[in-house]
Parts: sequence; C-alpha cells; structure tokens
Amino acid sequence: MERFDAVVIGGGVAGLGSAYTMAVNDLDVLLIERGGNIGEKSVYGGRIYSWVFEQYVKGFDNAPVERWVKKERLTFLDESESVSIEFSASRACSFTAILTKFNRWLSEKVEDAGGLVVSGVKVEDVKREPLRVVADGEEIGCDVVVDAEGVNPIIAMKLGIRKDWKPSEVAVGVKEVFKFSESQINERFLVESDEGLANLFIGYPVFGNGGGFLYTNKDTVSVGLVVRVDFAMKKKLEVYDLVEKFRSHRELASLLKGGSMIEYSAHLVPEAGIHGVPERLHDKNILIVGDTAGFVLNRGFTIRGVDLAFYSGVLAGESIKKALDEGEIALAGEIYQRSVEESVIMRELERFRKALKVLENTRLYEDYPKTIIGILRDVFEIKDESKKLYDSVMEKTKGKKLRMLMDVFSAFRGL
Ligand SMILES: Cc1cc2nc3c(=O)[nH]c(=O)nc-3n(C[C@H](O)[C@H](O)[C@H](O)COP(=O)(O)OP(=O)(O)OC[C@H]3O[C@@H](n4cnc5c(N)ncnc54)[C@H](O)[C@@H]3O)c2cc1C
Repeated sequence: MERFDAVVIGGGVAGLGSAYTMAVNDLDVLLIERGGNIGEKSVYGGRIYSWVFEQYVKGFDNAPVERWVKKERLTFLDESESVSIEFSASRACSFTAILTKFNRWLSEKVEDAGGLVVSGVKVEDVKREPLRVVADGEEIGCDVVVDAEGVNPIIAMKLGIRKDWKPSEVAVGVKEVFKFSESQINERFLVESDEGLANLFIGYPVFGNGGGFLYTNKDTVSVGLVVRVDFAMKKKLEVYDLVEKFRSHRELASLLKGGSMIEYSAHLVPEAGIHGVPERLHDKNILIVGDTAGFVLNRGFTIRGVDLAFYSGVLAGESIKKALDEGEIALAGEIYQRSVEESVIMRELERFRKALKVLENTRLYEDYPKTIIGILRDVFEIKDESKKLYDSVMEKTKGKKLRMLMDVFSAFRGL
C-alpha cells in the first residue's frame, strides 16, 4: 500500500491551499481531484480578495489575475429601471480571475513544491484504523486526511463530521461568461486595462433572498445570479428563467450588448455564515476545510469564499506540520481546531453572525429598490409640474417609515 503523510480530497482552492502549505514544508502530500483537470469543476462569481495569496504563495506576482477591482458598484433594479452607487477606489484589495485558471496555477505551485497532484480520480471512501483513503479501487495509507470536497460534503457526512445543508443554508448560483475584446470592456465599463469592476445587483428579478453579480475580466464578463434554495423552493422559481430575465433587463442588456456567451455553469454556495460551521472541524486526523466546513461569508454586497477557503487550507497544512514536528500526529485535528477558532476566519464569521438574519428580510430586495427608484423617478422626471423631494419621500414611504428605519438600522448593524 502506498503511504503519504497526508492525502487531500479535492483540488479546489481549499485543498490546494492545504497541499501547497504541506508541500512547501516538505511533507509527503497527495492531492486527489475527481475532475479531469484541476479547476474543471470550480465555479464561482469572479472576485478574489488577495491578502492570503500575497502573504502565503511565493511568486503570487505571476498569478493569472484578470483585473484588479478598482470600481465597486451596487445597483438596485426594478422591472425596468435602476439606481447605482459606485465607489471608485485608488487602490485594490481584490482581483477578478478565472477560477479554473487560478486553481490550475495553484496546482502547479503545489507540484513545484514537491506535492503530488492526481486528477480524474474520485475518492470513494475514507477508512479508519489505520487511516486509509480509497480511490480507484485502491487503498492509500496516510497519517492525516484533509477533506476539501466542497459544498457537497458526501465523505464528511458519511464520516459523521458534518451534517447536510438545510435549504435555508445554501444558495444556487448560475453564472454565464460573455466574450468581448479587451478594449470593448475598457470603454464600456470606463476602466483601464488592468482595472476592473465588481457590480452587485439587488431587486429584479429575484425580489427576495438572492441577487445578481457582474465582474469584468480581461476580455470577458462574468454575469450571474445567486438565489437561496429555500426561497426558490417556496416561490417555485426556476433559476434558469431568472437568469434569462436578469440578462434581458435594460441595464444588463446594454452592458452585455455585442458579447457572445462562451460558458455556462451552476453550483451551490454555503450561505449560513457561522451558523453553517460545525462545532468540530475534525474527527481525529480527518480535517475539513473550505466549503466543506462552511467557511463562506456573504454580506450581501460582498462574498468571501475563495480567500477563506485557501486560508483554512493553510491552517490545516500548518497544523499537520506542527503535529508531525512534535511527534504527535494524533493532535493535528485539535491544533487545527484551535488555530481556526483563533483565526480571522472565525473572527469574521462571528462579526457578521447577524448577516444571515438581515439578508432574510425580503423587504430589502422588493420594497426598497422600488422605493428608491420611485423617489428618483419623481425627482428627475420633469414634465410640466415637478415634485418636491420631501413630498416624494413622504408619499413613497407612507405607512412604513418606522419599519424602514428599523430595517436600515439592523442592516447597518448586521452587515
Ligand atoms: C455562483 C457562485 C459565486 C461565488 N462567488 C464568489 C466570489 O466572487 N468570490 C469568492 O471569494 N467566493 C465566491 N463563491 C464561493 C467560492 O467559490 C467557494 O467558497 C470556494 O471556491 C470554495 O472552495 P473549495 O475548495 O472549498 O470547494 P470547491 O471549489 O468546490 O472544490 C472542491 C473540489 O473537490 C472535488 N471533489 C469533490 N468530491 C471529491 C471526491 N470524492 N474525490 C475527489 N475530488 C472531489 C471537486 O471536484 C472540487 O474540485 C461563489 C460561489 C458560487 C457557487
């Protein structure tokens, strides 16, 4: 039987983070990915916060970054109109990337550091005492397993490390990629060649728990919608129809005009924040990282999954190294548990504990975009007589001012 210090299940960003950390620390590590090529199964919106890669990956300067995000735009949509707020930043803390390419680049880093990456092979099972991973009908022995299988935690559930998601804890995301030329993107989105835009959309067509996104890459644009599964079930929504409607809205249609769709994908995303993280992140020497552990933070106008997933992989790798150095490999899980609890991952998830509750308030998606658009229409639409801003605000918020104030207050506190 072949033996490794550690076997990593899954070649998403979390698995790659743990394999990379172990490989650079001279551990004997094997990463197994079921997709034919690394990155093939990776689906996300489009933006990555860079801090963790800058800090931990040697040669990050050569990463396949598409554009550094310097423009943040939040757009409220009703059926036919829109209002946007835009922040133009002088410096960027995130970049757009094609996750398939980015993960492939990370896997090269793992291999350069001496890790073994095998793709096109599915891990079927993990057996204990002694610890073994079963893949392709063969058993591979190891001291530690890092389970980075993503949002469908089949193995983690089988091992009793985590429970399946409730429909209120996950959203389904659909993403399309449109091809343009680099100069078309620069002109249309008013950005320089290395600068990009992240645009989040609230309101139409979901009018409920979910929203749209658009990210500019070098010569493509990633567009999509994310809708919470329980909301889609309750309202009997077909996410594919919603995407069609979203794309056909005046605002989106003009942004996507002339582009040709070259890619379409769908995936689940954990949405429960801290409420979706199991109390124990390991069972003895089997550690869970990334989406499997629920390390995703959705604050409505930003989503952080990739950086937290990679960092959880780094913490898992470092914990395993520490346990091996101390000659107590059985302590790897405990060391990992402590390091995650003390890390920015849990601090962030704890800080935004109330975000899930705030984002469940459907008035944020239905009433308020329509109210804001209605007020601005009154202000800007001048025929013969025009309306005072005060009169419009009073009329559009009649009977709901207190509720609105309370909603705004809880959004400020929770997000
Ligand atoms: C629509 C959408 C938009 C998003 N937008 C953003 C965004 O803009 N920014 C951001 O930071 N985050 C975003 N996220 C979240 C982010 O994509 C995830 O949090 C992150 O990619 C999780 O990485 P992971 O490695 O844990 O899981 P994954 O990337 O899912 O990787 C798991 C890997 O394990 C493999 N695998 C599974 N089972 C087995 C097995 N039995 N054997 C072998 N291999 C296996 C899979 O093939 C897969 O490659 C988004 C997610 C979605 C769905």
